[in-house]
Amino acid sequence: MEEAERRKATNETLFRAVNEQIERLQKPFALTDTEPLHIVCECDSLTCAQRITVPVEAYELTRADPTQFFVCPGHEDKEVEDVIDTGGDYLIVRKHPGVPERIARDTDPRNG
Ligand SMILES: [Zn+2]
Repeated sequence: MEEAERRKATNETLFRAVNEQIERLQKPFALTDTEPLHIVCECDSLTCAQRITVPVEAYELTRADPTQFFVCPGHEDKEVEDVIDTGGDYLIVRKHPGVPERIARDTDPRNG
């Protein structure tokens, strides 16, 4: 396991934690249940501050699997993840089996 790979996987889990907070804070202010969430890109670059607009339904579906993350197109990293879906202005990626997947699962904010 390369240190760089571990760091990338860890960075993405940080942004996921941020987005869980965003959802929690934004939800009570949404006018309707269909109002999209404005989350941050969950790519592995700590300096990335790109915003992504995601329908709540898509967010919930993706978040139900702890190995899945949202990134801007072009921000996916084939070394640690595969693109499994696209919502237009964002991609949904899934962690490769092994250490990237394990880190994603161990830090799942919805498990515990
Ligand atoms: Zn990014």
